[in-house]
Amino acid sequence: MPFVITDPCIDTKDTACVDVCPVDCIHPRKDEAEFATATMLYIHPEECIDCGACVPACPVSAIYDSLESTPVSQKALAEANAAFRGGEPAAVARAEALVAAHRVAQPKLMALPAAERAAAHAKS
Ligand code: SF4
Ligand code: SF4
Repeated sequence: MPFVITDPCIDTKDTACVDVCPVDCIHPRKDEAEFATATMLYIHPEECIDCGACVPACPVSAIYDSLESTPVSQKALAEANAAFRGGEPAAVARAEALVAAHRVAQPKLMALPAAERAAAHAKS
């Protein structure tokens, strides 16, 4: 199963994971058109090779190692990871709509500083 980026990436989006991914499956990169407006980054589920390099690189523990290990509160964002395709406006809009809905559905998590959200996932 692919790795999944979750809500601590919102407000962080520092691309540390992009720099270590050996197969360039995390988007948008800083040099891609969608980077400025993307709320978070997304892992392409079919391109991810499950190497695990991105997990320790993330300063806010936003990345889970499978869909199964992704907390229930983050399932919409797992769907957003799967939906995002750079250069495809409808797919980008679909992913961003899922993120926007997550922000509305999880006000307590989103009120926390990004660095504190992962620790709160298990309780939400
Ligand atoms: S697990 Fe490896 S291949 Fe998958 S997104 Fe992370 S760094 Fe990239
Ligand atoms: S390292 Fe973490 S916070 Fe930074 S862009 Fe990647 S998933 Fe988002």
